[in-house]
Amino acid sequence: MSEALKKPPVRVDLYLCKGCVLCVEVCPKNVLEMINNPSVWFGTVVKVVRPEDCIRCRKCEDICPDFSMRVVDIGVELTFKDSTGKEITKSK
Ligand code: SF4
Ligand code: SF4
Repeated sequence: MSEALKKPPVRVDLYLCKGCVLCVEVCPKNVLEMINNPSVWFGTVVKVVRPEDCIRCRKCEDICPDFSMRVVDIGVELTFKDSTGKEITKSK
């Protein structure tokens, strides 16, 4: 697995996910599955089970009614300024 895929390309906010399954159904690559999780409100949440198959089409992000999914771009660099005005570049 490449460095970029050591972290899943899709991030799920488990606090916001209500387990509606829409993202699992829309994913063309079967990257996502529902799992039982008794600690969440509805008892099931989505999990990124095959991150290496993700093609970053963003269909899951677009369909999620609760803004729980974020698809991360490879190699995107963000530049910030610290409190002294110095620029800091971070890769996702
Ligand atoms: S970005 Fe596309 S391929 Fe990746 S998990 Fe979402 S729907 Fe599936
Ligand atoms: S579409 Fe959103 S709320 Fe529904 S299961 Fe997927 S992440 Fe959770």
